[in-house]
Amino acid sequence: MRLLISGGRIIDPASGFDGCGDVLVEDGVIAFCGERLPDELKTGGERVYDASGLVVAPGLIDMHVHLREPGQEYKETLETGGMAAAAGGFTSVVPMPNTVPATDNRATLEFVVRRARETCPVRVWPTIAATKGNANEEMSEIAECRSAGAVAVTDDAFPLQSAEMTRRVMEYCRTFDMPLLTHCEDKAMTKFAVMNEGLTSTLLGLKGMPKAAEDLQVARNIELSGLTGCRLHILHISSERSIQLVREAKARGAQVTCETCPQYFSLTDEACFGYDTLAKCSPPIRTQADVEAVKAGLADGTIDAIATDHAPHATHEKECEFQAAAFGMIGLETSLGLVISKAVETGVITLAEAVKKMTAAPAQILGLPAGRLSVQSPADITIPDPNAEWTVDPERFFSKSRNTPFGGWRLKGRAVTTIVGGQVVYGEIRSTQKATA
Ligand SMILES: [Zn+2]
Ligand SMILES: [Zn+2]
Repeated sequence: MRLLISGGRIIDPASGFDGCGDVLVEDGVIAFCGERLPDELKTGGERVYDASGLVVAPGLIDMHVHLREPGQEYKETLETGGMAAAAGGFTSVVPMPNTVPATDNRATLEFVVRRARETCPVRVWPTIAATKGNANEEMSEIAECRSAGAVAVTDDAFPLQSAEMTRRVMEYCRTFDMPLLTHCEDKAMTKFAVMNEGLTSTLLGLKGMPKAAEDLQVARNIELSGLTGCRLHILHISSERSIQLVREAKARGAQVTCETCPQYFSLTDEACFGYDTLAKCSPPIRTQADVEAVKAGLADGTIDAIATDHAPHATHEKECEFQAAAFGMIGLETSLGLVISKAVETGVITLAEAVKKMTAAPAQILGLPAGRLSVQSPADITIPDPNAEWTVDPERFFSKSRNTPFGGWRLKGRAVTTIVGGQVVYGEIRSTQKATA
């Protein structure tokens, strides 16, 4: 099938193209992307997608999600998580390896790859756990998993505590040319803690996680990355000082990148008032000063990418005491709306910069053949309406879980159509042309 997406504002950060134009999809790949489709490429047989008033972007990439398969299918599966991703405008997702069992070996990794191929409507680029069983004791099968398709190594959910183990993992990552994605948290400092440490935690009488627990590990991992030559990517950066540490490291040429998530620039720890467990996540939502620092980091490029840390949990895991509730919130279906409403509409970054942080930047960090609209690349395309206003209704989510603090929020911007490999996986082909009899 030939599909001509015509009249939209094309934003392709990888090539720098930003302007009104045409994108031609043929046999699952991009056949043309530019101002106007040349006559010699027209056959008259193409379906026309009228994208006027819409943005045509490379398919969004979420480089940090939890899809819970294998082992916790009651929270999410590769299928439901993939449908949520498609509805949110994502064509690629990068699941974390804290599955049950952990994705720490070739067999489990191959299961994820196969299940994804069979059931998931978007592309899945899996990661592997840094240590076996996420136990922080023995390194996992990094080399074997690399050849089976893992794109990165990570300690997410089970942060590496020993500097010596971190160093050894980094040496392996470097040898096999994979980035290490780290969840920076000194666990001894956050034991029994459930939210950010500060005035709000004091008022609520809850044990807080000091920002230093994040900052210390960011500093340590930057040092170890310098020692080993390993590419370091810091997951879900949330604190002012951590962002400054990355900024300084980048200024001296360190191989470090980082991401944040919409909750870290859309909420403060006051969202925990009323003991609202939906706002409980790790790292915790912090203070207004941190929100401002995240925005400054997005604006000056210190923060390379925006991910979601989509973390589905069942209702009973959230409708309980704050101390007992699970950490994390879902994000795939609200991310684009929050980015446009809270970062673009507020003047922190431009729409083109937002698209870059959700496409070309994560693709570059992970070395993915995605996130661009160049000719002959796979036709992964997201068509957002940046002006569409909508109300978040978790009951209508494709995700199996409902744990979002953004229910009822009015947002601006959402995906209209999501295309993976030339196939529409969400929305429909918007056409103004009347069918001929
Ligand atoms: Zn994490
Ligand atoms: Zn995570």
